[in-house]
Amino acid sequence: MHEVILVKCPNCGYEGSPKTFAPGSLLLEIFLWIFFLVPGVIYSIWRMEGKYRGCPQCQFRYVIRKQEEVTTKHSGIFTILMVIITLGIIALIIFFAFSVTEPPPDKPILNKLLNLE
Ligand SMILES: [Zn+2]
Repeated sequence: MHEVILVKCPNCGYEGSPKTFAPGSLLLEIFLWIFFLVPGVIYSIWRMEGKYRGCPQCQFRYVIRKQEEVTTKHSGIFTILMVIITLGIIALIIFFAFSVTEPPPDKPILNKLLNLE
């Protein structure tokens, strides 16, 4: 799963591997995920959508790609969906594990005997 990408920067003339830049901060993303799940998901999607490969020297966004990616990778939305589905399954398992409790065993024979008396 190694990708070899070479780019040329039209801004400063840099040639080589690009650097991946993401907007926002990872710490804020983790914070949102822990305390507020829904904004965390939205924030993660926004960061993934805003992610770009740019020039490591001048952070120029529109570098010219010289070599195509070797491996195909999933989009950010797909990863987020997989996380949500996995969390949903875990939540369901926990919910059912706690909700399915043994009903107290009733004793019809004993009740009949008590009623008869
Ligand atoms: Zn540059």
